[in-house]
Amino acid sequence: MTTHATSWNFRRAVVTGGAGFLGSHLCEWLLSLGTQVVCLDNFLTGIPANVAHLTDDPGFRLARCDITDFIHVSGEVDLVLHFASPASPTDYLRLPIQTLKVGSTGTLHSLGLAREKKARFLLASTSEVYGDPLEHPQREVYWGNVNPLGPRGVYDEAKRYAEALTTAYRANCGVDAVIVRIFNTYGPRMRPDDGRAIPTFIRQALAGEPITVAGDGSQTRSVCYVDDTVQGILALAASGHPGPVNIGSPDEITILHLAETIRDMVDAQAPIRLINRPVDDPSVRRPDTTLAETLLGWKATTSREQGLHKTIEWFRSALAGQEELPSF
Ligand code: NAD
Ligand code: UDP
Repeated sequence: MTTHATSWNFRRAVVTGGAGFLGSHLCEWLLSLGTQVVCLDNFLTGIPANVAHLTDDPGFRLARCDITDFIHVSGEVDLVLHFASPASPTDYLRLPIQTLKVGSTGTLHSLGLAREKKARFLLASTSEVYGDPLEHPQREVYWGNVNPLGPRGVYDEAKRYAEALTTAYRANCGVDAVIVRIFNTYGPRMRPDDGRAIPTFIRQALAGEPITVAGDGSQTRSVCYVDDTVQGILALAASGHPGPVNIGSPDEITILHLAETIRDMVDAQAPIRLINRPVDDPSVRRPDTTLAETLLGWKATTSREQGLHKTIEWFRSALAGQEELPSF
């Protein structure tokens, strides 16, 4: 990491949801920067295997903990990265109450920990706070277009509440808090059955099964490789800025084009099968990343081809049994 390595002086970080997809990559990067890591996870949608390669590192500790119950961490902590939450639509639709609880009570407990330890706090928020956006691309000042009563409301509103709570703790309790709004991120360690478009399309293409595109596939997403996202998050943590700041790639693509690209890269003959579009599925999504670029000197640098290639190769070996794969 080049953008902020000189200003990186965190000694010990807590990562909630650290055994998940993004959390496990964060733990890895934190250790590589010399920061000790306490990883808290209840393994609701993540697994210990995601961080198994880190457990020999003396600076790493993994603790099973449901952060909606209580959080206790002994010793000094100077950074709390709050990532615990189901994140894929399939997960949060089957876990609606857990999603609301971790976004509300879990965030409360994480902020309480940061307050007690006088630590910098970073909330993993989401592009989903913009809902089905009426402004495109989305800037941080946009308030969003969310249906609180729709099925996605459990995730979107939990994150919006978490943002309000974080803002209140910053204003009233002196917590040095920052909000990052993360856009669609992909890479190794996503679960092949997590329901999100990229792992689903890769799994289907590798198996030669029909690739399931929702609606006519004209809806868009802007997809960012995990290493880029993590570097943006760490740069923001080190910056002292309150956010919110969008972190994501402006590389917007239709879902149909994404499905065809993955199929062609896997060299599969798999057909495209059109399936019903989920309720309230956003039609477009692309971050305006001007703030991240000017504030942090950060922007995504991994090309779609490079990122998808690395991810496909990881899935190829994982599905061949060389990595432990969670199934829920
Ligand atoms: P993930 O499901 O892989 O990871 C979430 C982790 O949180 C899992 O390990 C899960 O077991 C843990 N968890 C859930 N509830 C918990 C609880 N009550 N106590 C302790 N641990 C709990 O998801 P992800 O894609 O890695 O997303 C991580 C975070 O980043 C989420 O907060 C998500 O909203 C946010 N985010 C992710 C993306 C993305 O594209 N991946 C985009 C926007 C925001
Ligand atoms: N999608 C799809 N087929 C699938 C899974 C998802 O066409 O098997 C679509 C989904 O309807 C959405 C887009 O891909 O329009 C991105 O979905 P994902 O769950 O990856 O991310 P999110 O909707 O949370 O941005």
